[in-house]
Amino acid sequence: VRARVMQVEESPDVGYEDIGGLHDQLQEVRETVELPMENPDIFDTVGIDPPSGVLLHGPPGTGKTMMAKAVAAQTDATFIKMAGSELVHKFIGEGAKLVRDLFQVARDHEPAVVFIDEIDAIASKRTDSKTSGDAEVQRTMMQLLSEMDGFSERGDIRIIAATNRFDMLDRAILRPGRFDRLIEVPHPDEDGREKIFQIHTRGMNLAADVDFTELAEETDGSSGADVKAICTEAGMFAIRDDRDEVTMADFRNAYDKLTNDDEEPDVSRT
Ligand code: ATP
Repeated sequence: VRARVMQVEESPDVGYEDIGGLHDQLQEVRETVELPMENPDIFDTVGIDPPSGVLLHGPPGTGKTMMAKAVAAQTDATFIKMAGSELVHKFIGEGAKLVRDLFQVARDHEPAVVFIDEIDAIASKRTDSKTSGDAEVQRTMMQLLSEMDGFSERGDIRIIAATNRFDMLDRAILRPGRFDRLIEVPHPDEDGREKIFQIHTRGMNLAADVDFTELAEETDGSSGADVKAICTEAGMFAIRDDRDEVTMADFRNAYDKLTNDDEEPDVSRT
């Protein structure tokens, strides 16, 4: 069961240089996660507890997982990921047990960065529904909070959670000593997109006319994951055309294709 719901990476291969934009966000993550791991004494000296948990919130595909991985790589920590959605729809007691397992694995792999994606799945505001599942979800969350209490003073396990439904969260998890550092991870701006284009084309054979400043200008609203997809799709256009260089037109066509795919009729809308 463990292998299915938990992803353990001893040494993730993501570096800060792989992340485009997000300077302030990255600095905050480093300060709250990296600093306590690398220099726990400084918190003792100053006489404060390091922040307990970090919550990254923002739209999908903006680099939240990447940042958590990069900080684990930087601190030579094991990266342990679990999705909140994996913890629900379980039998009674199983969600809480998985949370206990998660922290046991983290202790076995210290230093470790525990990343809980889709935390909203176990920490949503209580709804009106009276389904018995709610109580189970509640128990899972209580277990998570109690595990967090257990190591708040120590630097060798750090916990990062992520959500793209911040508005849905139960405010109880944001209290001091819990996820008390909130970091918003927005879509990249133009400069960020330019940087992300550069990152994801590092290994690509580019024609001389490719201009990332212009592409960044033309792809407003794209996430980092979208930019990555545009680069891959641009390469596919070149391959289909039997060319070994990727041109500016390929990138533009890729963007058009991916944007139009998104606009396929939505059946939920009338
Ligand atoms: P989700 O909420 O869907 O889990 P996320 O915010 O965790 O999304 P990631 O999984 O970190 O997003 O990003 C998906 C992929 O998109 C990354 O593996 C990376 O290739 C690319 N990407 C996203 N943001 C950036 C960025 N700022 N710089 C470089 N690449 C990015």
